[in-house]
Amino acid sequence: MSPRYGLILLLLLLSGCTEFNGAKAYLLPPSALGMEELAPRVFVNKEMSLAQREDFRQVVAVARTNITNFYGSITSQPDILACSTEECFAGIGGGKPRGKDLGKSKVLISPRGLTVPILTHEWSHAELRTRMDAKFDGIFGMNSIPTWFDEGLAVVVSEEPRHSEKVWERIVAQKMDTPRLDDLVTLKGWNKAAGKYGDVDCALGVPGKMYVVYTLAGHEVRTWHRKAGREGLLKLIDKVKSGESFENSYAATSK
Ligand SMILES: [Zn+2]
Repeated sequence: MSPRYGLILLLLLLSGCTEFNGAKAYLLPPSALGMEELAPRVFVNKEMSLAQREDFRQVVAVARTNITNFYGSITSQPDILACSTEECFAGIGGGKPRGKDLGKSKVLISPRGLTVPILTHEWSHAELRTRMDAKFDGIFGMNSIPTWFDEGLAVVVSEEPRHSEKVWERIVAQKMDTPRLDDLVTLKGWNKAAGKYGDVDCALGVPGKMYVVYTLAGHEVRTWHRKAGREGLLKLIDKVKSGESFENSYAATSK
């Protein structure tokens, strides 16, 4: 274990059980977490049934196609850890979310998230991070890209129905309280807002509930992407990587 990982593990030990399990998943190979290889870089828990395994193979194939079509090519191949039981998910650091980006090119999918939109969402995080050459940000977020953009882009790529433009219109029509984008720049700020506005209950599938934080980010990035397109997205990534500020790059690509 490098000193850097040691420090992270210490920080996570101080911050709670779920986070500690998350650190295990971040640091250990899937086989050490009791997962079986279903396909190259796709791992499932031993209890997952044959039918679920077959379904999940299809989910992976479609999610890969979604990422390829959206970005124009695919540069990431995250380790995909999929759990068919809550015990498996909790044991590897899951919790309320349906899926989790563990960083270090690893995504964790809950039994409630073995779907194309959820895997596509998490894969979008891995793809953007790989394209940004951001190697060490799974826990802390990317410094150069605001969290609302990373999350909003994942919402747009995945076309998750719960965060759609239709849902946004209902949020506006009902004059629901929404956060400011400025409060969603860091991962810490994002997580705070997700707690405050109840988006962390997303996984619980409360009927009729609207998830304002994800839907707001999706609406913002969808509006930008309609003008910028794939070309604008790739240009924005290039600009930020070459040192331009995100704000300038975002504005320049939305004309
Ligand atoms: Zn996300």
